[in-house]
Amino acid sequence: MSTTEADCIFCRIVAGEIPATVVHRTATTVAFRDANPQAPTHVLVVPRTHVANAAELADVEPGTMSDLVTAAAAVAHEDGLGSDYRLVFNTGAGAGQTVFHAHLHLLGGRSLAWPPG
Ligand code: 5GP
Ligand code: ZN
Repeated sequence: MSTTEADCIFCRIVAGEIPATVVHRTATTVAFRDANPQAPTHVLVVPRTHVANAAELADVEPGTMSDLVTAAAAVAHEDGLGSDYRLVFNTGAGAGQTVFHAHLHLLGGRSLAWPPG
């Protein structure tokens, strides 16, 4: 089942229709704290444009893919993480993706095991 913009929770957060703790905004991206944080800093950086996953974003709006990483680095700096953080795109339900609007997870503030499982 595909997700349309009207019923997409991250589109609604981008539009300000449902609340989120937004920590960073650019012309192409919005970053907000994850509702179920897995680390002291757990922020989702999303494109304003609705696309299903990271690969689709790279196809249709490659500059915004770069913007997501730049925004994540800015939030990491603001949260005092320096350059110690993890960036993750879950792609596909089999890999744990539950929201089908591309989002970059920024995780940090504790030691992060590798591999993540
Ligand atoms: P995924 O599993 O798709 O990679 O990540 C989706 C993330 O979105 C999860 O970490 C989940 O906690 C977060 N999430 C789902 N719904 C909401 C919401 O309404 N608000 C916020 N802030 N985070 C959400
Ligand atoms: Zn969306």
